[in-house]
Amino acid sequence: MPDSQPTLTQQLHTVAYELHGNCYLNITSRCTLRCDFCPKHNRTWEVQSYDLHLEHEPTTGEVIEAMGDPRGYKEIVFCGLGEPTQRLDVLLEIAAYVKQYDIPVRINTDGLANLLYHRDITGEMATVVDKLSISMNAQNEELYIRHTRPKLDGAFDAMLAFSACAKNAGMNVSMTAIDGLKGVDIPACERITERIGVDFRRRVLDEVG
Ligand code: SF4
Repeated sequence: MPDSQPTLTQQLHTVAYELHGNCYLNITSRCTLRCDFCPKHNRTWEVQSYDLHLEHEPTTGEVIEAMGDPRGYKEIVFCGLGEPTQRLDVLLEIAAYVKQYDIPVRINTDGLANLLYHRDITGEMATVVDKLSISMNAQNEELYIRHTRPKLDGAFDAMLAFSACAKNAGMNVSMTAIDGLKGVDIPACERITERIGVDFRRRVLDEVG
């Protein structure tokens, strides 16, 4: 095998990687956003020493194989260098598999799935997903657009509406913003979450949580 070809172990660690006692699943590189702070838009696919560049989008079976026994983890988290809800069917299949073992499932998401699919998917999601961590990224639309460069119109308002729908569907929702990102007002972001009635979590750039 040429040196440039990833080994099977490398590929498995790209699809499923371990941090904080959790297993993180990297199921796509596609995104609805083009965040200016994203590693892949800053010439690297490495996150906390894991190379998250996918050779191809893994099948449900490949993700389950890479994850191994979910009972070895505190939580299974869908989070890579892409938006997991871009592959909603695969995500829901894997989440349903994990739920058989009674292990909590979380998605780290941009909160734009309802905008992408033109329907409210949060009820379906809530049947197999316990928690959502939604990237608010900024306290207003202008700053949000500047930092995340959305491919779809109306993304900021859609992300806020999705968060409220997710809460009403019964998932445990927290919203995040990155401290230190230019112009981001962390207390203002937190006030938005108070209005929606969900939790707030301050993030640090390049730390996976
Ligand atoms: S949503 Fe996440 S993976 Fe996609 S561009 Fe933004 S930071 Fe990168």
